[in-house]
Amino acid sequence: MQNQSNNIPSGNVQNSISSNEALFLLNRDVSANQLQTYRSNNEPILMTSLSGMPIGDKVYSLTAGSRGPILLQDTCLLDELGQFNEEKTPERCSYAKGSGAFGFFQCTTDIGSTITRAHFLDTRNKQTPIAMRFSRFRSELGSSDTIRDVRGMAIKFYTDCGNFDLICNHLPVFFIRDPILYPSLVHSQKRNPVTNLFDYDAYWDFLTLRPETTHCLILLYSHRGIPNGYRYMNGYSVNTYKFISRDDEISYVRFHVKSNQGINSIDPTKALVLAGLDSDYATRDLYNTICINKELPSWTVCIQQMNEQEMKNSLFDPFDTTKIWPKTYYPLIALGTIILNRLPTNHFSEIEQLAFSPANLVPGIELSLDKMLQARVFAYSDAQRYRLGKNYAQLPVNRSLNPMANNCRNGYMCLNNQNGAPNYFPNSFHGATTSYRFKESIYSVEGNVARYECSNDNDEFSQAKTFYRQILSPDERINLARNLAKSLTLTQQFICKRALENFSNVDQDLVNDIQHFLNLQRPTTMEDSNIQTDLERKI
Ligand code: NDP
Repeated sequence: MQNQSNNIPSGNVQNSISSNEALFLLNRDVSANQLQTYRSNNEPILMTSLSGMPIGDKVYSLTAGSRGPILLQDTCLLDELGQFNEEKTPERCSYAKGSGAFGFFQCTTDIGSTITRAHFLDTRNKQTPIAMRFSRFRSELGSSDTIRDVRGMAIKFYTDCGNFDLICNHLPVFFIRDPILYPSLVHSQKRNPVTNLFDYDAYWDFLTLRPETTHCLILLYSHRGIPNGYRYMNGYSVNTYKFISRDDEISYVRFHVKSNQGINSIDPTKALVLAGLDSDYATRDLYNTICINKELPSWTVCIQQMNEQEMKNSLFDPFDTTKIWPKTYYPLIALGTIILNRLPTNHFSEIEQLAFSPANLVPGIELSLDKMLQARVFAYSDAQRYRLGKNYAQLPVNRSLNPMANNCRNGYMCLNNQNGAPNYFPNSFHGATTSYRFKESIYSVEGNVARYECSNDNDEFSQAKTFYRQILSPDERINLARNLAKSLTLTQQFICKRALENFSNVDQDLVNDIQHFLNLQRPTTMEDSNIQTDLERKI
């Protein structure tokens, strides 16, 4: 808990509170004082109906006589109930629980101008407003922030050439590389449709049947699997993008968004306690940090870059989302800094309705042959249409800075008639036009239409081996084994055996250590197994 100096209520109300009360407020989280802060800065205003009619009474329903039935003409009651019934939109199928904030991206180099046409990257010190949403992959609204899970970090750059959405994870690789498996991956990590409980048979069954998940799994079960709040984690695009330079040169990039606060993770036992005591731990931390406005959270946006020749000659598939690009060959190039300095004024309108899609690109940044990225282009936009309606891009938080100019004038909540411009193209009436300057780059493809294995190097384990042997310290290796064993103990023996077979391709020491912890942890009686709470299972 922090002590916040800017949290002393001001104005009329402050004068009316006792010194004890003021002390109490001072010692609370700034987030806990949101209502008090409002009271200190505002006078009460008259309540109105949806249509603006001033309201005379909002405590008692309108009835015929004091015991009589409620009247349908009570528009005040109808407003209240009708609005309440529809105040939620469907939650996201994955990355459901999130929080976010706003700020800016500042270019710290001119290097961008030589490798991409993207305007927002072309000049040192140029600033671009951004929105950022943090989330947890298999979360539901209301679930705990301190569960071991992949975290999402999505950034919307409001550039002068449209919005660019960079949708990252906090680990540099993902479980799978073919999008056709994504719904199954999510189903296996969410609730069993019969029991409505998380199902560790399903979880480990799916993951162990697809050995390409091994690299992501050992990163997830390392200490980075439970970040100490959103400020202390990196973001990785995982997907590979294409940069197009002003001279039409193509290169391939992966984005790294590196925390300037450093990496900080939570010990699993503390995470377990926090999951019970403060399920909104990361949400609270982000809110308090930005509200206090002292050390604003910041990240450095970097890329790794490959030219076309390197892409063709690469020993691993650069579009494979289960692989990193080794930094030795593809060093990080810093492009700029992100600083978060503004909280949403309303979580629902600005964060829940903040709609990201990898389809939101700007000239100079294009999709690559990364199959996951290509599928996400459809999946995200489609999900936003379902969640928020067809005109979600017209919501203030999703609007681009440059005016939208297209053929769309209809559909639920259409707010923008585009000044009466024609809604068909081509036209003879000064409607929006296109420019050859913004055409996509050209590339050729060939081959037979078939269902191909994404990666052609047959190598699921060598990067996981490097991570285990060369990155993790001996203590971290033991912790990794302990964390894996704790989760594996909840699944059936045959699935556990398959997991150990996969991990034996990483390192036999890892298997031995997991086996050791499994022997210690596997419940021997039904009573033992009941002792483990559902929360413990998730950590
Ligand atoms: P490098 O030595 O250049 O990079 C190793 C990187 O490992 C570090 O810079 C750090 O990434 C990351 N790292 C350290 N501890 C952990 C951890 N507990 N969990 C996750 N990441 C961690 O080597 P390579 O680039 O050749 O990569 C070697 C292995 O490191 C890979 O197989 C991969 O598993 C892992 N790795 C690599 C990353 C990369 O972008 N190259 C990123 C993350 C993991 P960071 O600097 O991004 O914090």
